[in-house]
Amino acid sequence: MRAIIVGAGFSGATCARCLAENGFSVTVLEKNNTVGGNAFDEYKNGAYVHKYGPHIFHTQKQRVFEFLSRFTEWFPYEHRVLANLNGTFIPVPFNLESLRKTFPPEKADKLENALKRGYGENKKVPILELKKDPDKDVREFADFVFDNVFRFYTEKQWGRKPEELDPTVMQRVPVYISYEDRYFTDAYQYQPKRGFTAIFEKMLDHENIAVELGCDALKRLSVTEDGVFFDGKKTDDVVIYTGQADELLHYRFGKLSYRSLRFEFRTVKNPFQPAAVVNYTVSEDYTRISEFNKFTCEKAEGELSEIVYEYPLEYETDRGMIAYYPVANEENVALYKKYANFVAKHKNFYLTGRLGSYKYINMDVAVDNALTLADTICKEAEK
Ligand SMILES: Cc1cc2nc3c(=O)[nH]c(=O)nc-3n(C[C@H](O)[C@H](O)[C@H](O)COP(=O)(O)OP(=O)(O)OC[C@H]3O[C@@H](n4cnc5c(N)ncnc54)[C@H](O)[C@@H]3O)c2cc1C
Repeated sequence: MRAIIVGAGFSGATCARCLAENGFSVTVLEKNNTVGGNAFDEYKNGAYVHKYGPHIFHTQKQRVFEFLSRFTEWFPYEHRVLANLNGTFIPVPFNLESLRKTFPPEKADKLENALKRGYGENKKVPILELKKDPDKDVREFADFVFDNVFRFYTEKQWGRKPEELDPTVMQRVPVYISYEDRYFTDAYQYQPKRGFTAIFEKMLDHENIAVELGCDALKRLSVTEDGVFFDGKKTDDVVIYTGQADELLHYRFGKLSYRSLRFEFRTVKNPFQPAAVVNYTVSEDYTRISEFNKFTCEKAEGELSEIVYEYPLEYETDRGMIAYYPVANEENVALYKKYANFVAKHKNFYLTGRLGSYKYINMDVAVDNALTLADTICKEAEK
């Protein structure tokens, strides 16, 4: 049994390991010169620097945590994010502490009571719901939060006004009626002790796995109405593809939209900022600055600190950009389905992962989906 896997990110590497352990001879083709996909990192000045943006591991899924724990030790890490509102740092998601930092004490007391009365304590309430509250003070508060924490940030991130986005994006944005300031509340919140790249190196280190780096699979692989072709021959081998679906099929139905990012890395004096990640929600062209030593190692040491500024931009093909976030509105999802349906005709071909499924997914979901896919493929092979 043979499998060809395109991409050495969490989706591809997890599939590779599981199939290899089940007797498949696996070839992983990765166009980068490194493994790890988006989660690739490298050690510099006392921190793991994430080349494709800050990555924080968190999950509710025990099997994902257990699977990854075979390849790394962890240290506990709870992520906290601040927003810089013209020099005032407030916790995000917006919580009761943020309320106290942005309103005078009497007004803050009044709003806190109104919110607790209306929605209960320790609740996450979507901002759009608060904007419709019968109490005028609560509506004004919601407008303040929307304008100062979401509106400009969202416009920078997506290059579109909040009204132009899929409504589900804004529906998910909450205000916390509590003093909880952790960004995630998942059961498992850890960072890998020796960084993410080391996980991939260990996961792919198996006698049944061969990894070819610097290899653009599209030079060797094609999918047509007649089948899946590899190195010029039709193949029945299992093929798992974790790259872009439109690129794979040479944009035959049209281009899918993505947002890309430009990262600006700097080495500065340690410490640089009061939290691992600071969002800029009312000013600046960048969306956020991340300081790596605050979330990639147990203790920040040394005089220097590695930071990164993130500038979102529209993704364009053939400009050396990376497609980071699918712009998953109705039109694009319908277009994606044409690609997914086309490849689904071939029973040995599987489109998956962040790019392959045209869906923003966290690392844990990528691993979970890959574990399920590998399991399905192994069961098929047994038939
Ligand atoms: C800025 C940013 C921050 C994020 N932060 C977090 C976070 O904090 N926590 C979290 O859980 N998740 C985070 N994520 C999501 C996380 O990056 C994804 O869950 C993860 O990358 C999914 O893994 P994947 O293998 O599906 O995709 P990828 O990591 O993108 O891997 C796909 C691989 O396929 C390769 N490839 C594509 N086409 C070809 C080809 N033709 N030939 C050969 N190789 C090819 C690519 O080079 C890449 O290495 C973040 C994402 C972004 C964009």
